[in-house]
Amino acid sequence: MQYASCKSVEERPGVQWGELEIGGASEARQSEDDSAVRDPATGAVVGHVPALSADMVGAAVAAAHAAFAGWSGLAPQERGKVLRRLAALIADNSADLASLLTAEQGKPLAEARAEIGSAAAYFDFFAEEARRLDGEIVASPRADSRILVAHKPVGVVAAITPWNFPASMVARKLAPALAAGCTVVLKPAPQTPLTALAIAALAREAGVPEGALQVVTGDAATIGAVLTRDPRVAMLSFTGSTATGRRLYEQCAGTIKKLGLELGGHAPFIVFPDADLDKAAAAAVAAKFRNAGQTCVCPNRFFVHAEIYEAFLERFLREVDRLVPGDGRDPKSTLAPLIDVAALAKVERHVADALARGATLTRGGRPAAIGGTWYEATVLENVDAEMLVSCEETFGPVAAISRFSDIGEVKAQVNASPYGLAGYVFGRDISTLLKTAESLDLGMVGINAVHLGLEMAPIGGVKQSGLGREGGHAGLLDYCEQQYLLIGV
Ligand code: NAP
Repeated sequence: MQYASCKSVEERPGVQWGELEIGGASEARQSEDDSAVRDPATGAVVGHVPALSADMVGAAVAAAHAAFAGWSGLAPQERGKVLRRLAALIADNSADLASLLTAEQGKPLAEARAEIGSAAAYFDFFAEEARRLDGEIVASPRADSRILVAHKPVGVVAAITPWNFPASMVARKLAPALAAGCTVVLKPAPQTPLTALAIAALAREAGVPEGALQVVTGDAATIGAVLTRDPRVAMLSFTGSTATGRRLYEQCAGTIKKLGLELGGHAPFIVFPDADLDKAAAAAVAAKFRNAGQTCVCPNRFFVHAEIYEAFLERFLREVDRLVPGDGRDPKSTLAPLIDVAALAKVERHVADALARGATLTRGGRPAAIGGTWYEATVLENVDAEMLVSCEETFGPVAAISRFSDIGEVKAQVNASPYGLAGYVFGRDISTLLKTAESLDLGMVGINAVHLGLEMAPIGGVKQSGLGREGGHAGLLDYCEQQYLLIGV
């Protein structure tokens, strides 16, 4: 079934899946405002999705609200079974889903396959976690009363996701929200709605009831206004830029919604003199250039100790020189295009700013020869704290490297940032590594490791990188409210 849906993406997938998921889709089918989803590698149209009116988004909220009693009323084990089936369906369809993901997002197929695997793993993990919605009995100070604390699903969740991980960002929200008993209205990014719609189609197949998961597409401001202001929406779970997160936070104030915000990052990557340099350089390049640097946890700033600077750089450049920009469907391609021309322009601005302020260009520094929105794998040296690459998320294939002698200065620079999502430290002395990690104001630190996005771990940031955690038991509880019951006996 959904396999057929996946194949029909080349025709008009958004309308088909829109019809499946959205009340009033026959109107959407006739809409002249369908927006095209384009392949960033070729510019070809991959599919269309409807632009829903505010009323239609309101209808999706109403449907999710109506479905809440039934879905939350199921035993957690029953919800778990549905989610486990969904994980299996995603795994069974992983080849098609990965092709779809690459077609609309551009990343190499190997990365897309890994992402689909991660999405399935989130559903599988939360299928199991659903049964652990335990409460507690608190010791009462009085003999004539008992204190019970229960976890209840918050209600209807509005989920808004970005384009850089079209499957795993969606799964990270849907899996815990549905496991907790919430119903969801999901707004995927306009660049990559098809993977989200395919996952929603599979969710229906797995047994997520009608209404419990709605996907809405169209104008962000229109959809956002409804989702943030409708009192029937109890929680907003948003992943995207800090600027948009801030705006949505303000919009949610009117109805005091619960918030989960996964926002921008600006990760430091610190290499101590005793690091295994081969391992550190390979990990640094993998983390920096995955998805062409368009990941929230990708290192934006490299701090390499002066004693091993040249030795690290030599290894780092060797890895960088192996990167091959190209169409994600070509197995040789390891460097994705940027998502669109605006992303390309931002990278160009960051590189131009760094060079104007005295950075040295060691590799790359211009759009790639193959054209489109590819940008060369770029390495900048002699980077200082004032440059844009040191202050903002570049979100592109640009490694900005500086050398350090005093780790205290590095910590001060890292902690001066308004962002606090992720960071990395490489070395051998565990005491130095642990103390450094603990001293950094970051939600996540990889210590001699870079792949942080594991479903059983709490993903999230501090400061202006967000609120709440996705993944792990904390990720489930974020979709719950506590209810305290005082019982007289
Ligand atoms: P974005 O521009 O903030 O957009 C994210 C989503 O929000 C899109 O679906 C977008 O739709 C929507 N949106 C924008 N304005 C809205 C509004 N007024 N009302 C409702 N929805 C609205 O971010 P992006 O460029 O897609 O994603 C990249 C950012 O996400 C980076 O900063 C990255 O660090 C961050 N990110 C963070 C994490 C994490 O776990 N912390 C993970 C991945 C990405 P439109 O495009 O239609 O406006």
